[in-house]
Amino acid sequence: MHPPDQADSVSTNPQLAVWEFAGLLLTYWCNAKCTFCYVYSSPERGGWMNTTDAVTIWRSLDQLAAKHGKTMRIHLAGGEPFGDWPRLLALVRAARDAGLTPLEKIETNAFWATSDGLTRARLEQLDVLGMELLVVSTDVYHQEFIPFDRVRRCVEIARKVLGPPRVRVRWWDFYKRPLDTRRLDTNEKNRTFAQALDRHKDRLTGRAADRLADLLPPHPAEEFRDLNCVKEVLQSRHVHIDPYGNVFPGVCNGIILGNALKQPPEQLWKHVSTNWHEHPVVSAVVAGGSHELMQRAKPFGYRQLEAGYANKCHLCHHVRQFLQHSGIWPDALGPAECYANERAPRR
Ligand code: SF4
Repeated sequence: MHPPDQADSVSTNPQLAVWEFAGLLLTYWCNAKCTFCYVYSSPERGGWMNTTDAVTIWRSLDQLAAKHGKTMRIHLAGGEPFGDWPRLLALVRAARDAGLTPLEKIETNAFWATSDGLTRARLEQLDVLGMELLVVSTDVYHQEFIPFDRVRRCVEIARKVLGPPRVRVRWWDFYKRPLDTRRLDTNEKNRTFAQALDRHKDRLTGRAADRLADLLPPHPAEEFRDLNCVKEVLQSRHVHIDPYGNVFPGVCNGIILGNALKQPPEQLWKHVSTNWHEHPVVSAVVAGGSHELMQRAKPFGYRQLEAGYANKCHLCHHVRQFLQHSGIWPDALGPAECYANERAPRR
């Protein structure tokens, strides 16, 4: 449970790596409401990043990477970025017209691929505008909501328009042997999800933590002691930025490093790099992972689950959800879309 290189990283005062990969989470809206979602996207959610803000943030990210001799890689995700096609198209065009680094990829669940003509037309436009890669999500969770024939149509047409190397399918094994999970009863679904979790070691934050953690064997929180998050939070070189400008480290959505609408990412990176020791959540998870975060949350009233936790990220999410719902460290934890437990919805 305690790889030696983690202890070494902590003892040598880890540094914040330069951000080289950034995902713009254009919206929390999604046509689906996947059990596996690492936030709480759904048709009831919203928030859309406007084009001007996106271009401003993108440019600043480009400048940050260039200053350090690197090239920024930008991808667009959500929620579901195709939920507002005119807006998505306008954003990609504006970035291209502004001479920003080429768009690395867009991630989609293909819900919009309802006819051959429409699918081809959209992909051709994105191709002309320089999108390098299309990533299509298909798995036991998405197919509770999206007819598989749309996924197949999107992938097949994308392979013709963009060429096979520029189309990635997440998960390819599922694509080859799809399963319509809409038809399964609750027990069958749970069995299917448990097998999927075993095969694909996905993170458990957001709705996934609430709904899937029970399908994995529990462990006492003490097992996660000193399992620090230096690599994930400081050294991943990756950030996500949501429609409200919140900047999250790596895939740890809901831990706010700062706001890109208030402070350009170039300046924000410098600020975080100098001051992360003062960030209540980052300093805790860097020092001792989610176990340390739990210890720091106890004085605010957090009560450890006696039944245990599926893994360190499940523990982290559970503690952060308590803190966010209690209004503790509001500048460091949010927005509600990352923590809104549907059993006690909060927006
Ligand atoms: S424990 Fe928390 S901070 Fe660490 S990797 Fe998981 S979600 Fe991120």
